Amino acid sequence: MTSQPHSGINDLGKPVILGIPFDANSSWLRGSAGAPPIIRVAFRSDSGNMWTETGVDLGAAGAYLDAGDLKFHFQQAFTVIEDKVGELLDRGLRPVCLGGDHSITLPVVRAFGKRIPGLTIIHFDAHPDLYDELEGNRLSHACPFARIMEEGCAKRLIQVGIRTINGHQREQAAKFGVEVIEMRHLPALDKMKVDGSVYISFDMDVLDPAFVPGISHREPGGMSVREALAHLQAITGHIAGADIVEFNPAQDSSQLTATVAAKLLKEVLGKMILD
Ligand code: MN
Ligand code: MN
Repeated sequence: MTSQPHSGINDLGKPVILGIPFDANSSWLRGSAGAPPIIRVAFRSDSGNMWTETGVDLGAAGAYLDAGDLKFHFQQAFTVIEDKVGELLDRGLRPVCLGGDHSITLPVVRAFGKRIPGLTIIHFDAHPDLYDELEGNRLSHACPFARIMEEGCAKRLIQVGIRTINGHQREQAAKFGVEVIEMRHLPALDKMKVDGSVYISFDMDVLDPAFVPGISHREPGGMSVREALAHLQAITGHIAGADIVEFNPAQDSSQLTATVAAKLLKEVLGKMILD
């Protein structure tokens, strides 16, 4: 059901979905590599219509593009991901990547950083993912934002919903100038107002596991779906791209998490189409 777009001039600026079925840098449970096709099914389900809350009809012909799911061997994964995202950006499109574990955000944002100076990342997560390394793996899904800041891929990193920060990651946040908005300090709608190009990285475990059992790291005390949507909808600036990661279908007993991921995808696409 994917249309491989040969985008023309009329497609400039459109969002394009890209599935990234990769979970080899997960530190606890595998399974998130299976997420992209399941999110697509929930996204297109006849249980609801294709309109966003903000009045965008995603069912209209050509509202968004879909580049399908990437294929790669483990060893080449990060190169293939960065190259493909770069190709989509070079065609004037705005990639919305479906993970996969959170490690994929590093090659994705590398492609953005090489093309879009002064990027602001708004990162929704229970975890800061700022470890220098975890279990000897510097590419772990616990580390992508340390690498992103070291490599200068973004100007600002704003993290929201954090509730597992430890001493090491607090030091890392201070070292990189990360703006950490902890879960206990929400709501923070005013802090979603930023200028310039914005990349949204949405780790599903920012949500309370009561809403999304299908995640690898269930961290209680998280956002409701409504709180997440409110913070997403409050973001200003130009949304250059986004990802939705860490949905683990193997943990999702009722397909509820797939439905939530699809809802978030809808609202992110709608936001990109409106700005
Ligand atoms: Mn994460
Ligand atoms: Mn997380």
